[in-house]
Amino acid sequence: MPSNKKLLVLPGDGIGPEVVREVLRVVDWMDKRRHVSFDLSEDLVGGAAIDAYGTPLKEETLEAAKASDAVLFGSVGGPQWDVLPFDQRPERGILGLRKGMQLFANLRPAKVFDALVDASTLKNEIVQGLDILILRELTGGIYFGEPRGIETLPDGTRRGINTQVYTTPEIERIARVGFELAQKRAKRVMSVEKANVMESGVLWREEVQKLHDAEFQDVELQHMYADNCAMQLVRAPKQFDVIVTDNLFGDILSDCAAMLTGSLGMLPSASLGAVDPTTGRRMALYEPIHGSAPDIAGQGKANPLAQMLSLSMLLRYSFDMNEDADLIENAVENVLKAGIRTGDIVGPGMKPVSTTQMTDAILKELDAQAA
Ligand code: NAD
Repeated sequence: MPSNKKLLVLPGDGIGPEVVREVLRVVDWMDKRRHVSFDLSEDLVGGAAIDAYGTPLKEETLEAAKASDAVLFGSVGGPQWDVLPFDQRPERGILGLRKGMQLFANLRPAKVFDALVDASTLKNEIVQGLDILILRELTGGIYFGEPRGIETLPDGTRRGINTQVYTTPEIERIARVGFELAQKRAKRVMSVEKANVMESGVLWREEVQKLHDAEFQDVELQHMYADNCAMQLVRAPKQFDVIVTDNLFGDILSDCAAMLTGSLGMLPSASLGAVDPTTGRRMALYEPIHGSAPDIAGQGKANPLAQMLSLSMLLRYSFDMNEDADLIENAVENVLKAGIRTGDIVGPGMKPVSTTQMTDAILKELDAQAA
């Protein structure tokens, strides 16, 4: 049965439009072969929007994003806009969307595909089969807490201030997402803070535990200090399933987890807002974790798989289309196994394929799976 799903596509700059274009071929395939039709619209964001509209994010674009069921975002930025003041740069486009859509939950999976196990800097046995999810709180904590700033003291020295602050509703809503995600995975949550030295960490730990005891006893909950978690991520990352943590620790730990996989061009992410109690709908934006890669833009070299896997997250988390998401992930796995690689993940003795050739291979594999 055809279903209409409102999807806003924001390709952005650099390799963004190149990889998004390829993903739209998969969307088209889904329409034809899986009878899943999306109500698609597209707009400019970032540097492309600065050039066309004089702003990295038009108010109308933000409103359209809020009214969509999901946003598929490419990447923004480039050296030609680096001369602009910070508050007018392309990156304001993505920050404005995250803020305007109140996307408080950032999901960063770190999955190691068997065929790419050698891309990791860690030993094979440490990362083989790794499939973990870092859930980072994205709109609170020390990056937003007041007071903040740099002040000059009476003796002429200066003081820089940032404030780590979390309220119980903020902790509860991110923990809830963590438990719900774990319910669909291996049912294990590791909550991470520094309750040994920070009061906000004590509150974090207590509130996560309280929510667990009240509503999520089917999920196993453990707590860990952030410094230990950083160490455990490189020592024995497979011990984790879902890691839930705040904005600052999540920023650091998710980058660390990303590097376990060793391949920037393979990593998707999702940012989710709260569920609207009347419609049951939740705002959501999906994007690769890489940037606009100006060094390879326009050369047909970009790896489209992070963007492709962002689509599979979109299907899974915004539309509960797990079977279709699995199809894409299996196609990626099989294509890699067959030795088809873009330049960023190419192995010794392999010839790199172009962005388009990689998508051709994915579509062929999808055809084979759906046959
Ligand atoms: P980057 O992720 O764009 O590139 C880092 C390196 O990885 C480059 O050598 C690039 O060629 C390579 N790379 C990245 N994605 C790839 C892919 N899909 N296939 C093959 N190789 C790939 O990071 P950067 O160079 O630090 O930043 C470039 C621009 O992107 C900057 O303007 C930055 O602000 C912006 N940026 C945007 C986002 C976003 O839109 N969310 C995120 C990060 C960086």
